[in-house]
Amino acid sequence: TNLGNIIDGFGYAKGLRDRLAVKVAELKAAHGITPCLVVVIVGDDPASQIYVKNKGESTRAIGMESRTITLPDTTTEDDLLKLIAELNADSAVNGILVQLPLPKHMSSLKVIDAIDPLKDVDGFHVENAGKLAVGLDGIVPCTPLGSLMLLKDAVKTHGDGSLSGMNAVIVGRSNIVGKPMAQLLLNQDCTVTIAHSKTRNLKELCLTADILVAAVGRPKFIAGDWVKDGAYVIDVGINRIEVDGKSKVVGDVDFEAAKLRAKAITPVPRGVGPMTIACLLNNTLHAACLQHGLPAPE
Ligand code: NDP
Repeated sequence: TNLGNIIDGFGYAKGLRDRLAVKVAELKAAHGITPCLVVVIVGDDPASQIYVKNKGESTRAIGMESRTITLPDTTTEDDLLKLIAELNADSAVNGILVQLPLPKHMSSLKVIDAIDPLKDVDGFHVENAGKLAVGLDGIVPCTPLGSLMLLKDAVKTHGDGSLSGMNAVIVGRSNIVGKPMAQLLLNQDCTVTIAHSKTRNLKELCLTADILVAAVGRPKFIAGDWVKDGAYVIDVGINRIEVDGKSKVVGDVDFEAAKLRAKAITPVPRGVGPMTIACLLNNTLHAACLQHGLPAPE
């Protein structure tokens, strides 16, 4: 009875990228503008290098311009801040993303806050975080934005109409996932609880969730019997584990068990992950429109 309750993040992200490609072509034809995203990477962390390469390829694939600036991990914070100031001042650059984590000798808060909030396509600048908190239009972090898109679509597909009035429990309170996710769901009129490592009776709390978002960073941390029957489950986790000597990626939720109870659930991989890059492209297009005084495309 629970077949068909798997949320196809991969397919949804592909559809979103296709729609964005059309809008990019329209922007080019009508205004001669090609949005440009600059990704800055400091150091040679292999995982970060893969993410940056994927971001570049996806950006070009929908007709936008992509630039990658690679700096050695001996770069000083001052030099990075100078580079950001140049990119802020360059009107051909619409989006600036500094790949995290940064080397230990840099303050990521300071670096992110140096980015022009209008070009902060990750949505991590305090000005964008503040706008989200008070309900003003700003740039919304990609992973929570993508998670919300999937949730809204799932609720429609499964006949619940809107998210309004639902109990949402978010496990994880990071600035890049948990907190902005909470703000987004609050703006959708959910009743939101944010759980973290000091939360008591987490299982019982999770069992009250109509919407359960897992952003913990621990493989299969949320057991199947923590999931309320008929809940919507969004698994943000990306955890690499060894199974029979082979490396495998799993989420923060025990998917096979949770799937039996959930009304709809995102898998890992092919769930939230692909939405993150698609939303980065979405944010870059919006930023370019706003910088040219054009309305952000719907
Ligand atoms: P963080 O490590 O920054 O935050 C993890 C959160 O989980 C913290 O708030 C922490 O609580 C909480 N937590 C840890 N242990 C427990 C516990 N035992 N019980 C309850 N809460 C706990 O991670 P991120 O938010 O950056 O990422 C979360 C996951 O999402 C990771 O697996 C990451 O790889 C993945 N991710 C996926 C993305 C995607 O594109 N799909 C993008 C970004 C992240 P406390 O604050 O008290 O320490």
